[in-house]
Amino acid sequence: MTDKLTTDVYYDEDVDASHIEDKTVAILGYGSQGHAQAQNLDDSGVDVVVGLRESSSSRTEAEADGLRVETPAAAASEADIVVMLVPDTVQPDVYETIEDGLDAGDTLQFAHGFNIHYGQIEPAADVDVTMVAPKSPGHLVRRTYKRDEGTPGLIAVEQDATGDAKQEALAYARAVGCARAGVIETTFQEEVETDLFGEQAVLCGGVTDLVKAGFETLVDAGYAPEMAYFECLNELKLIVDLMYEGGHMGMWNSVSDTAEYGGLTRGESVIDREGMEKILEEVQNGEFAREWISENQANRPAYKQYRSAEQNHQIERVGADLRELFAWDGEDADADAAEAP
Ligand code: NAD
Ligand code: MG
Ligand code: MG
Ligand code: MG
Ligand code: MG
Repeated sequence: MTDKLTTDVYYDEDVDASHIEDKTVAILGYGSQGHAQAQNLDDSGVDVVVGLRESSSSRTEAEADGLRVETPAAAASEADIVVMLVPDTVQPDVYETIEDGLDAGDTLQFAHGFNIHYGQIEPAADVDVTMVAPKSPGHLVRRTYKRDEGTPGLIAVEQDATGDAKQEALAYARAVGCARAGVIETTFQEEVETDLFGEQAVLCGGVTDLVKAGFETLVDAGYAPEMAYFECLNELKLIVDLMYEGGHMGMWNSVSDTAEYGGLTRGESVIDREGMEKILEEVQNGEFAREWISENQANRPAYKQYRSAEQNHQIERVGADLRELFAWDGEDADADAAEAP
């Protein structure tokens, strides 16, 4: 299987763990990725300090998890590897408070490349700049680690002042469990551009607009909103689960031949390839990044409008009622989670 991949995949046995052994890692932020990476590093025997503001409500949680907590500035100044795991939109501000703690030869590490790629953070030339990005949400990064498994991850090196940046990133990826599942090398540019394109054109933007357009087409034609909700939104999970497990062929093999023939002949007609290319262009030329940065500087006026329109869409009201019918599903999932180690 793996011989068909176009890139090298690094596993535990390919990684020299000594590249992180004597180092102190500062984890800035204790959210989804922060709590998971900090605890996995700690369990792997790496010296970890969590950097949080005095006022942060996460302080008690990190301490209860047995971790040492300092302010971001103190943690960064003590550490050899400083990992930015606060939200991307606040990273430039946090960076200003920790910049002085980055000595020559230290590493500034990210889990997503936005702020480096679009020039919102410009580290000194004598610092290594790397990325270790688990390809999954933090709770899975933690849960799989505790089961002696891991989630696949990406590494990237933007700036290699020491000559050791890649080896260190691999050792870090191993310590958080990613090299148990496989680590792939990419660049900051590729990670950012594919991530933004994917979430806009396909995953978050494309899918929700496809669902809304399908729902509205049926409702406008006089069909019951409940039927439209089931057909266009609820069943999406079943299809995505099949694709996740077995790719497109796994899905086509499981649905009826009628669904397969209809899908294969009709699907493409709702796709706007030029629209997709435009999305990619605006990601590549920085137009989207500039728009999102000024939107944040202006306190998110457009974001708030789009969000409120989304909240008031009929599909949300119908969905809230219909999802009650699936309450048993949620209880089941909770029970599964409670059984997990
Ligand atoms: P998050 O929103 O879950 O957590 C951020 C944490 O940062 C908060 O819990 C808090 O402890 C702290 N924080 C918030 N505001 C702050 C401020 N103003 N100053 C200082 N600290 C503050 O973040 P996340 O989703 O873990 O994302 C962290 C990084 O990881 C981002 O670069 C993101 O793109 C990347 N990433 C996330 C995921 C994911 O699954 N969530 C996956 C891959 C990469
Ligand atoms: Mg330091
Ligand atoms: Mg992504
Ligand atoms: Mg993203
Ligand atoms: Mg059907």
